[in-house]
Amino acid sequence: MKLQRTDILVLGGGAAGIAAASAAADTGLDVTLVEKNGYAGGKATAAEVGTICGLYRFSFDSADYIVKGFARDFAEELRIRSGTTPLSNASGLHYLPYHIDVFKQYSYELLNTKGVRVFFHSHVTAVTVKEKQVNAVFIHTQDEGEIEIRPRIVIDCTGESTVARLADLTVIRSEHYQAAAQVFTLQGIKETHEGKLGLILMKELRMAIQQGKLDHYFDRVYVVQGSLHDGTVSLKIGIPVPVTYCPGNLDALRASAFDFIYRLTTYLKENVAAFKEVTIEHIAPEVGIRVGQRTHGRYVLTEEDVLGCKKFPDAIADCGWPIEEWEQDRRVHMRYFEPEEFYQVPARCLRANGIDNLYMGGRNISATDGAIASARVIGICLQTGYAAGRLAAAQLQGISADSIIEEIQLGAVYSS
Ligand SMILES: Cc1cc2nc3c(=O)[nH]c(=O)nc-3n(C[C@H](O)[C@H](O)[C@H](O)COP(=O)(O)OP(=O)(O)OC[C@H]3O[C@@H](n4cnc5c(N)ncnc54)[C@H](O)[C@@H]3O)c2cc1C
Repeated sequence: MKLQRTDILVLGGGAAGIAAASAAADTGLDVTLVEKNGYAGGKATAAEVGTICGLYRFSFDSADYIVKGFARDFAEELRIRSGTTPLSNASGLHYLPYHIDVFKQYSYELLNTKGVRVFFHSHVTAVTVKEKQVNAVFIHTQDEGEIEIRPRIVIDCTGESTVARLADLTVIRSEHYQAAAQVFTLQGIKETHEGKLGLILMKELRMAIQQGKLDHYFDRVYVVQGSLHDGTVSLKIGIPVPVTYCPGNLDALRASAFDFIYRLTTYLKENVAAFKEVTIEHIAPEVGIRVGQRTHGRYVLTEEDVLGCKKFPDAIADCGWPIEEWEQDRRVHMRYFEPEEFYQVPARCLRANGIDNLYMGGRNISATDGAIASARVIGICLQTGYAAGRLAAAQLQGISADSIIEEIQLGAVYSS
């Protein structure tokens, strides 16, 4: 088996993994990233979520960045390349629509220009831990078969705490996971106003449910904001099958999503004027699973921290997004803190308990169910991923974590 050594191994090339690898590579260290898909972006591209939340202040004023440094630069570049502007809702939330292919392309460019060694189409198969250190990570690659990677530090950005699960470390499991969703795109829409299209959908589907023409869960259909262009629109459906992570669950979710999409499209085409000529343009490659297991860290961010807008001396992320819960039997449920307020994520949420060389970024940081329902949005994943990359590099270079945390708080982006 081929043996590969690296300073920092980033697992997962979603928003958090891209940020972590970029941050670590900027310091001149040797960085390797492993991603099971053939492209970067994770849920942002594979599940086609379509908007970035958590970038701006929670405020009734216009969209004003709350994120600094890398996350802000990344969002600005994406905004310019996508040709989009932030959207706002009546609750004071702001979010940035982006183009899926632009996200893929820009992420790829970043990894490439920073010299990150990337294994696409590759996944982690096993992990060994010795004396409080992740000692080796085994991956299966499409081109080179099995590879053993010996990293000095690992950053788990897989969204599912892959290292902790494979190494039998403590994980934070949910009793029930948030509902999964599937995004798909229709073409041939006759309505040109996105807000009006959303209202038509809601009214027509509720009526069809009342009349017994559609099942009760058909009210869980949402327009992906900012997606209506030239007669095409992306819709997000809440899949009526619980997320369990048991064998076969992903297939069941996918089958249910396809059935939902087919029945919904047929109903709309036959019954609703704005949809009379629609056809399915495409279906996002991945089912949108929102929450996975989190690695138990040196601090567990709680729902009380989020709603109480707790601040920490070792803060590495400022977060202006509420708790957003998608449950199986109802539409989305939001729990807010005060407008203009924000909470912070401490650096301790990015470090595994009892393991010296394991960091986490993105939606598998150390947080309770309630807290991750806020901290999983892309704007926050970019911040935690970036901080994990900087802190991991600092550990190897003998630089104090406190000085790096101070730089992150000031919004400084590393430049060598
Ligand atoms: C339906 C849906 C709608 C959403 N809407 C929004 C929204 O509008 N705005 C917003 O900001 N957020 C939204 N979110 C949340 C957000 O998209 C995600 O929480 C965020 O993108 C997670 O980023 P991440 O990098 O932590 O994880 P991910 O994006 O999940 O990235 C993890 C990466 O790791 C890879 N991976 C996993 N396991 C392995 C393995 N064993 N080996 C190798 N690679 C592996 C995966 O392929 C993936 O690329 C939504 C999520 C869903 C599901």
